Amino acid sequence: MKDENCIFCKIANGEIPSATIYEDDMFRVILDINPASKGHALILPKEHYANIFEVPEETAARSIILARKIMTKMKDVVRCDGYNLLQNNGPSAGQTVFHYHVHMIPRFEGDNIGLKWKTGELDDALRDRILEAFGQK
Ligand code: AMP
Ligand code: ZN
Repeated sequence: MKDENCIFCKIANGEIPSATIYEDDMFRVILDINPASKGHALILPKEHYANIFEVPEETAARSIILARKIMTKMKDVVRCDGYNLLQNNGPSAGQTVFHYHVHMIPRFEGDNIGLKWKTGELDDALRDRILEAFGQK
């Protein structure tokens, strides 16, 4: 299914031009228009899924397999030292375009991109509640 109000549906299906670096039956891979680093690219499924929870398992699995292929090639092109594979779900997580996509962000020593968070402490009661919910207690 496509969503006619979704910009990534239009890009993924070629109705809006993009800097496409790869395309197959299921995905288009484009360069991010506001890159966090040199070579920042996005994997877009051609079908509309708002987020990871809506994506069929096969599509989700193929998106990660494809990410590895693209990153392997891009490493040679931009000569990065590392890579972040990132996927945002929901506004609180930083998602701004509500069509599932996978970020591939090349990293360079000292680039200060800022994909860091303040670390906390694992709360005992919360840990126990979660372990129990997952049937581990
Ligand atoms: P997110 O915040 O995870 O939803 O990521 C959305 C990403 O899409 C951002 O990194 C934007 O820079 C990128 N983006 C938005 N519009 C376009 C566009 N027309 N072409 C390429 N990238 C885009
Ligand atoms: Zn869409």
